[in-house]
Amino acid sequence: MLNKISQPGRARQVAGEIPIHHRYTLGVAGERFFKALRDERRLLVSPCPRCQARLLPPKIYCERCFEETAAEWETLTGPGYVRSFTVLHQSLDEEPLAAPEIVALVGWAGVRGGLIHRLGDVTPAAVSIGMAVQPVWAEARTGAMSDISHFRPAPPDSA
Ligand SMILES: [Zn+2]
Repeated sequence: MLNKISQPGRARQVAGEIPIHHRYTLGVAGERFFKALRDERRLLVSPCPRCQARLLPPKIYCERCFEETAAEWETLTGPGYVRSFTVLHQSLDEEPLAAPEIVALVGWAGVRGGLIHRLGDVTPAAVSIGMAVQPVWAEARTGAMSDISHFRPAPPDSA
């Protein structure tokens, strides 16, 4: 296994499985963010007192100033906006999907960062950059991004 590969065309392949267990911890900011998502259906941002950025996902330090973010986090209100999107026709296993899925980067005015999530209740042809969207909350919430079922177009008067 530790042989130096000097002839890449003759590399050996060994079939088998490697048992790897992985535990992802949310960290201080992630735990606070996901608890608010699960328990209060709120999206939180952490403000930086130095550069005034509002960070999403929230962080305990501003990655630009290295300043500790404010203890009081803000709740996002109003719609998000589609900053970018793509239409999926295959699953991650490269199997054809029964219907295309739309995945978007959703941002909010005055917020640095955003969320990548599915768009629903809309056809791919109707999606556009800058389109206002709002979260649709899942009935059963577990403290994960899936606590938002998807984002859907926001009504025109929701801004
Ligand atoms: Zn900052």
